[in-house]
Amino acid sequence: MVIAVDGPAGAGKSTVCRRLAKALGAVYLDTGAMYRAVAWALDKRGMADAPDERIRSELAALPLEFRMEGEGLAVYWQGKPLGDEIRTPSVSRTASLVSQRRPVRDFLTRLQRDLARGRDVVVEGRDMTTVVFPDAELKVFLTASDRVRAERRWAEYRQKGLSADLEEILRQIQERDAADSQRSLAPLRPGEGAIIVDTSDLSIDQVVEQLARLAFE
Ligand code: C5P
Repeated sequence: MVIAVDGPAGAGKSTVCRRLAKALGAVYLDTGAMYRAVAWALDKRGMADAPDERIRSELAALPLEFRMEGEGLAVYWQGKPLGDEIRTPSVSRTASLVSQRRPVRDFLTRLQRDLARGRDVVVEGRDMTTVVFPDAELKVFLTASDRVRAERRWAEYRQKGLSADLEEILRQIQERDAADSQRSLAPLRPGEGAIIVDTSDLSIDQVVEQLARLAFE
């Protein structure tokens, strides 16, 4: 069983999907983390702006590994786990850029399907309901107002002890949304038949409950 969830940054996808997976006894696949890891790795190699052909061959050679372990995805660089280094605003920007490159999308789409194969999985990203799993048993598009999403990101940064400016985050979110929804490759939009859920005025528990109900229907 595949439950595919798309939506813009800060709509609550990660928290909701992690909890939903737990409630359903499924695993959780955060595909944003895969784009972030690739962005971080290409940047480290000075290849984030390289031509498509160079990126294609570099991707095959990167010492980057994606595995499903326990409740979800684990990412390794040179055999060591990658963690919060892929969660910085700078990696967010690079991820948004490299995710517009054909070799990166092809590479990660294939990996995402491989990782989900034979599992009950809640997958989350920007093109799960449109490109990667258009035939998923349940397709959901989670969204929320710009300001609510910026406030959530701000709270997350503060919790991690990172300094953050709310207005700056709002600006970055709007910029990234625009880039993600206007790009020619896999633009952010709900897939055919996806159920749109606005989380602006809902608690996380309420959203998880609503999705769990839909999954059992
Ligand atoms: O979800 P997260 O904010 O971690 O994703 C980082 C970036 O990766 C997004 O802004 C988007 O550009 C890209 N992405 C994507 N397709 C996905 C998941 C993420 O293009 N399925």
